[in-house]
Amino acid sequence: MSWEVAMPETFSAWHETATALLQRKVAPPQLHWSRQQGTFEFALFAAKDWQELPLRVVRCVLPVDFVTMAEWVFHFRGEEKWDLLYRAAFRLLFEKPGLLKDPLDSDNRLLRSMHQNLRRDAHKMKAFVRFKKVGEKFVAWYKPDHITLPLVSSFFKERFKTLHWEIATPDLTAEWDGKALKFSKGEAVAPDRQDETDSLWRAYYRSTFNPTRPRVKAMKKEMPVRFWHGLPESREIAQALRDAPARAAEMAFAQAPSAQSFLPETISSLGQIAKSLQACQGCPLSRSTTHRVAGEGPVTAELVFVGEQPGDEEDLQGRPFVGPAGKLLMQAFAEVGIDRSKVYLTNSVKDFKYQKVGTRRLHQRPKDGEVAACRPWLNAELSLLRPKVLVCLGQTAAFSVLGRHNTLAALQGKTHRSAYCETTLVIRHPSSILRTEDPALKQAAWQELLTGLKSAFSMVGCVGIEPTTTELLRLATF
Ligand code: URA
Repeated sequence: MSWEVAMPETFSAWHETATALLQRKVAPPQLHWSRQQGTFEFALFAAKDWQELPLRVVRCVLPVDFVTMAEWVFHFRGEEKWDLLYRAAFRLLFEKPGLLKDPLDSDNRLLRSMHQNLRRDAHKMKAFVRFKKVGEKFVAWYKPDHITLPLVSSFFKERFKTLHWEIATPDLTAEWDGKALKFSKGEAVAPDRQDETDSLWRAYYRSTFNPTRPRVKAMKKEMPVRFWHGLPESREIAQALRDAPARAAEMAFAQAPSAQSFLPETISSLGQIAKSLQACQGCPLSRSTTHRVAGEGPVTAELVFVGEQPGDEEDLQGRPFVGPAGKLLMQAFAEVGIDRSKVYLTNSVKDFKYQKVGTRRLHQRPKDGEVAACRPWLNAELSLLRPKVLVCLGQTAAFSVLGRHNTLAALQGKTHRSAYCETTLVIRHPSSILRTEDPALKQAAWQELLTGLKSAFSMVGCVGIEPTTTELLRLATF
């Protein structure tokens, strides 16, 4: 025998119907849940009304934890919930009282997964409903994945107790007038509304967006793209992400400790800068190094190179570019015909940043704040030098001199105008060649460094530098 049961519209109606069915011990496979009574194809075989069946169990009380979970699952979008809810209730009462404690039971697993889905949906709804003021009423439209509105309306009621509000969803609309909560028919599509709260949401988003940690993946997880159309602040996202690197650098600059107060009031020579630098405590890096490494070279140098920071060897000797990367750079200089004594070599950060592993000091890339803290020294050097061609070796130097408005890929291999020099060139750092293991890639990187140096060399017009005859011939074909 099969029985047709109308799908109840509210959870309390479901609870009542299920209890009455359980009292009659109607087995789950005998039930057919239908939207409208009489549509069941096998109605001919169904008895007229299951309610006429005799009562077999008088006291039928479902466990509280099941009822609590069932109330959530009742709002799941998907018809499979009807059979599941009744089957689980029947099994709990007559077959398996420990069903909810069995992690391997398929009904229990299904119930829990639907429950979890609903809870996630409710959480999103609480976070992403955006009210607009229409007359005296605050109205919102939202599309949850499930029929979640009845589950969250008490949350909104508590939160906006004194306001008159309405939340419409495609399934239902909830309205609170300060006294009673009423549900009515839903609205299928979002009405096109904008008001002054849009700009408040947008301003709020801008002020809470952290440019130092623009974690797009996490953001999309927390605020899934499918909700963006209803969120006024989503119109800020693209711009906020575009501005993030520059804003982060500005913040680092504004917040970081700074070397500024260690600089002499008036700067007259590179020697004076180098001397004052030794007393610098503008950032914590200076506490763990041997020397603050100043730049090296004549004040008349027309070609100036800026690296990242001194390495282990540079720190011990107190001179820039004397370690492995420096030696490689000198080898490249020799190939191109650049004379070290005629150029100026310096770094963005004057202290060696490292991590100690056993007795070794392993290089660590300086943070934006550390680069910003040290920039006054670089600024003082470059302002005095005013080079004809300024070469930034790698990312740290490029960002320190040119700002963080572009990626390294966009800057490298090109000339730019900087605060210190009309011809500021960004080229590969020699240490990147040392780190490259693949022989073919290493060779390509080496060639790229040579090309960059030749380019800088040709731009300076060879003033103060004596290239060899073969080098001049090579440059003619560059
Ligand atoms: N790398 C740099 O950037 N600078 C040095 O002085 C040495 C290695």
